Amino acid sequence: MNTKRPLIAVLTGAGISTDSGIPDYRGPQGLWQRDPSAQELVTLGPYRADPEVRRRAWLMRLETGALAAEPNAGHRALVDLERSGLPLRVLTQNVDGLHQRAGLPARKVLELHGTAREVQCLRCRVTGDMAEALARVEAGEPDPACRACGGILKPRTVMFGENLDPEVLGQADSIARACDLFIAVGTSLQVFPVAALPYNAVQTGARLIILNAEPTPYDEAADEVIREPISRALPELVRRLVAERA
Ligand code: ZN
Repeated sequence: MNTKRPLIAVLTGAGISTDSGIPDYRGPQGLWQRDPSAQELVTLGPYRADPEVRRRAWLMRLETGALAAEPNAGHRALVDLERSGLPLRVLTQNVDGLHQRAGLPARKVLELHGTAREVQCLRCRVTGDMAEALARVEAGEPDPACRACGGILKPRTVMFGENLDPEVLGQADSIARACDLFIAVGTSLQVFPVAALPYNAVQTGARLIILNAEPTPYDEAADEVIREPISRALPELVRRLVAERA
């Protein structure tokens, strides 16, 4: 018998944001796989070593306009779930900040890969607004430096060549082990350590629901697998959960 406290953990990946116009760069068809020179822009070693790589990276950030993306019905459904009063934590692999923009309180969201809405200095670790850094690029600075120490600024995201923050990952693992329902949305569940989260949730007795366009390694372990488009299926799932658990 499952004696866990009611807690819903929702893990979200790139799939929840594609309807907001944010491509899945890391996916099998993603930009990082197809174009090695693009992958360089999000890999710590070359980024730290080469001002030309940073100049191209800042231009890419300016051109993709990711800060302007709007949340979609999938993000809003999780806000509805939170407002229903059911205990909820969202663990996200996305760096777009769209859960919070949709209205989810920041304390409910754990950003496993950091956030592209902020920058961080590689030397003094101070953080700042990405929007402000991008304004400096637009104003003519090819590689805006940290205003505090002159160090190199990067997005406050986990780049290739960096590990996930062990503290954040530890919190995510505790949530996965504590929840009685784990929902994986728009994530392939193929990249560790994040892929261990649903495993640990199931091992400790949680139900598992997977909502993803493609098969995942956990489909057989799941209580339910949903293949419908996320921005339609997630609102439906949330309505059902609220009705079941209210
Ligand atoms: Zn600094």
